[in-house]
Amino acid sequence: MPTTSAFTGGDHMQPWSLTVDRLITHAARWHGDRELVSREADGRIVRSSWAASERRARRFSAALLAAGIRPGDRIGTLAMNGARHVEAWFGMMGVGIVCHTINPRLFEDQLAYIVEHGGDRWLLADPMFAPLAEQLRARCPSIERVIYLCDAGGLPPGAAPGSDFDGLLAAHEPDAAWGGFDEHAPAALCYTSGTTGHPKGVLYSHRSQLLHTMICAQADAIALSARDTVLAIVPMFHANAWGLPFMAAAAGAKFVLPGIKLDGRSVYELLETEAVTFSGAVPTVWQVLLDYLTVNRLRLSTLKRVAIGGSACPEALIRGFRDGHGVQVLHAWGMTELSPIGTVAGRAPPEVAARGPDAELALNLKQGRVPFGVDMKITDDEDRRLPHDGRTPGHLRVQGPAISARYFREDREALDAEGYFDTGDIGTVDEHGYLQITDRAKDLIKSGGEWISSVEIENIAAGHPKALMAAVVAIPHPRWRERPLLVVQLKDGASATRDEFLGFLEGKIAKFWMPDDVVFIEKMPLGATGKLDKKVLRTRYPGSAAS
Ligand code: ADP
Repeated sequence: MPTTSAFTGGDHMQPWSLTVDRLITHAARWHGDRELVSREADGRIVRSSWAASERRARRFSAALLAAGIRPGDRIGTLAMNGARHVEAWFGMMGVGIVCHTINPRLFEDQLAYIVEHGGDRWLLADPMFAPLAEQLRARCPSIERVIYLCDAGGLPPGAAPGSDFDGLLAAHEPDAAWGGFDEHAPAALCYTSGTTGHPKGVLYSHRSQLLHTMICAQADAIALSARDTVLAIVPMFHANAWGLPFMAAAAGAKFVLPGIKLDGRSVYELLETEAVTFSGAVPTVWQVLLDYLTVNRLRLSTLKRVAIGGSACPEALIRGFRDGHGVQVLHAWGMTELSPIGTVAGRAPPEVAARGPDAELALNLKQGRVPFGVDMKITDDEDRRLPHDGRTPGHLRVQGPAISARYFREDREALDAEGYFDTGDIGTVDEHGYLQITDRAKDLIKSGGEWISSVEIENIAAGHPKALMAAVVAIPHPRWRERPLLVVQLKDGASATRDEFLGFLEGKIAKFWMPDDVVFIEKMPLGATGKLDKKVLRTRYPGSAAS
């Protein structure tokens, strides 16, 4: 007798591997005319389209393969946001080469460490980063070649002829075949500041990037549409610009890339001339923009929504956007290890919305809810789950397909017994499922969206001949959100000045790591195990927090 069910076991759906080349292929095929607009370093506006950039990306793939770069190899990028950078990304990832975005603002020693640890074979650099790129080439034997993201006319002085990206593309056909490999293959690499020791590499897979894009596409997350024009201010070296290049391609949105100039006037001009509807950046950038708009009595005429994250979003920003410009703020929390979006506070749940705009604003000051595809819990020091009562703070732990399980070149999984990743953040969760970050357990300071390692500064300062112990805590700053304060206990009988210590740090750390102040303390507070007790220091220097 024939059975009614034809089930024979196995998956009956198509084996459509989740690789990121599909995103730009989709954009080129179905939204091919939608523009990619870049502002070059000299201020010129250059226009491309998803279709044209896809072809250029394929040319780049062909160039890489012809040069003997193989799937799994890493290529570093030292570049701001521009269409060439986007083309380079997809060109690498399309054929399984790993795109390693590098933050050019880091100190040279850290950069050299990152490039060597990544094992980068080529470096792609904006011409403005030529001195840095050449220094790294001299220090890091793995680098075979530096390619500049420009045309022949834009090459920096001393660059090898033929080392321009456009020339390389012109020499190859747009015929590289993309995809066709395991979706678990690595796509991108991004280093994040280690609390202690060296930066750690987060190795994203094709699958994790693609799923992150779809997680963010949900209505209560980022929700880009083909009608959006997206300005990606958050740099492409910060956790893939929060995934915006992937999201814009998936949605078929117009994509605007601002280059290096992020002052109020430059951002305002781009927002208006390109009729931007959505943008994302850290609070500092938005604060500068709103100040510029207020001073010059200007209004934003097209912008509808902005994602703000990387640091807590101040109330004044949400109010400034809402009341002055009718712009909705999506307060987002995340981290490099999360690809990076973890939570988003956008449209409040109906029961809160019913209580009016101020109730909604109060809720949106929190970091938001998890979209489908991210799960979170808060725990006590013994890994026990804590209640979601909006009052009890705990260690924030997260789980999901776009969340890192272990760092690059490390075998040990960084997960707890239930498979959750400890974020190093401390927070509460309320009855609506809204997360509020209240503190930071990891020993880092975040200044204008960039990390400062307290431990590294402490170690150097403690090496001063007059220092017995040194500690660094965060103090609040109106523009940068947090700045480092150096606290020193001198050796018995020694005396020293603030400038002596600042002078000692000079040249040993990046300029933006330089503490804003130095205070001397009689006796450093120590915990039961003889370790420095930063909790006590934080209460002693009011406003210092979460360092
Ligand atoms: P990103 O490059 O996205 O800023 P990082 O990994 O460098 O990611 O930084 C992540 C950390 O930044 C978080 O663990 C948290 O401490 C802090 N952070 C990010 N977003 C927020 C936010 N909205 N509010 C408070 N802190 C935040």
